Amino acid sequence: MREIRIQDTLTGELRPLEPREPGKVGVYACGPTVYGRIHVGNARPYVVFALLKRFLEHEGLSVNLVVNVTDVNDKIYDAAREAGVPSAELAAEMTALYVSDTDGLGLGRPDGEPRAAETIGPIVDLIADLVESGHAYPAGGDVYFRVSSFEDYGKLSNRPVEEMQQGEGDDAAELKESPQDFALWKATKEGEDTSWPSPWGDGRPGWHIECSAMAEQLLGTDFEIHGGGSDLVFPHHENEIAQTEAAREQPLARIWMHNGMIQMGTEKMAKSVGNIRLLHQALEEFGRDALVMYFARGHYRQPLAFSPEALEEAGRAVERLRELARRLDPDGPDPEGLDAAVEGFFDRLADDFNTPAALGVLFEWVSDANRRLDGGERMGPGRIAEMFHALGLENLLETADEAPAEAQALLEDREAARAAKDFGRADSIRDELAALGYEVRDTPEGARLRRLA
Ligand SMILES: [Zn+2]
Repeated sequence: MREIRIQDTLTGELRPLEPREPGKVGVYACGPTVYGRIHVGNARPYVVFALLKRFLEHEGLSVNLVVNVTDVNDKIYDAAREAGVPSAELAAEMTALYVSDTDGLGLGRPDGEPRAAETIGPIVDLIADLVESGHAYPAGGDVYFRVSSFEDYGKLSNRPVEEMQQGEGDDAAELKESPQDFALWKATKEGEDTSWPSPWGDGRPGWHIECSAMAEQLLGTDFEIHGGGSDLVFPHHENEIAQTEAAREQPLARIWMHNGMIQMGTEKMAKSVGNIRLLHQALEEFGRDALVMYFARGHYRQPLAFSPEALEEAGRAVERLRELARRLDPDGPDPEGLDAAVEGFFDRLADDFNTPAALGVLFEWVSDANRRLDGGERMGPGRIAEMFHALGLENLLETADEAPAEAQALLEDREAARAAKDFGRADSIRDELAALGYEVRDTPEGARLRRLA
């Protein structure tokens, strides 16, 4: 088996993936806060970790991918107030839209999609453990994490404690022992319409503790990979580490894998900046194939520029793959000598999940194959399906599905003619299809259309 290495933000090194239990990998990737429809920037971690799961499965690992939904959060209260709807209603609506928007990417669903509002019991238990062990303290109905009690605080984001702003505003300043402390539980405030009982009074959890509890519920501690956008390193992930490791005296995760931001011009795509392109709009405008290819063309750790040109380029790359797929004969012999390239493709993914380098290998494969097809060689797809699947583009091999409706209707007429033993009619339909650029292949699964080379 290939050694798989991933750049770990915590150690700053490429680290080998070493599962707790041989063959099993748990991945937790921070998901969206559901206060609006998700944009292309929010979709990047969804795609990166969905494709990572595919690659790890290709390597024979069993993967449990967890992507949470943050459905209790200040931003949701604010947005609901503005929209004049109950916050739980807004969160439910945006969660449903998040699911349908990401379904549009055609990459499947994560194995676990926990919601904060459904994890309140474990969240309260985790906070209680922190209070009991002296790592947290109640104050005025809130509960705060005592940062000075956790010696390793700052180890992920590597910055001096004085430079750490929790971004919690000033309203709680007088309740905190130290400005670096952060909220685990917040007492219900005016204008907040959801709350849960706790030993410290009615309230709701802070954002960071939600993820610590949801991750532990589904993956335990010391799990293999914790991921998310690089904008979450501080304070979100720093605080997740502090909470879980202080309470459990176990590492939270073995590898911290962070994706870079999607950029519009020189700025990060973000709702707060006001430069977003919604995912469902981008899917409509460019199609899911081009969008998935666009993400794969960037190394996950690097920033990735969003522009119509970048999406059009990705669309052209998809077309090159689709054209090659059309030229391959599903029943043809495996292309000789091209398997080594397939191994090279997966070697690139094993080296810090380098999708652009893997694409480079794939496109060399495509050039070689095209050259040989030009020379008259008859060639089957060989192992190209493995590479397409790892990139989320396995549908490109299903060329028949893209035949126009007119051709599909003719194919059905031909089947009917054959069933009625009207072979003259069936043959003339075959000619009509050829005129449209399609040939009929009779396969064990029935007749299929294939674009004529
Ligand atoms: Zn999180």
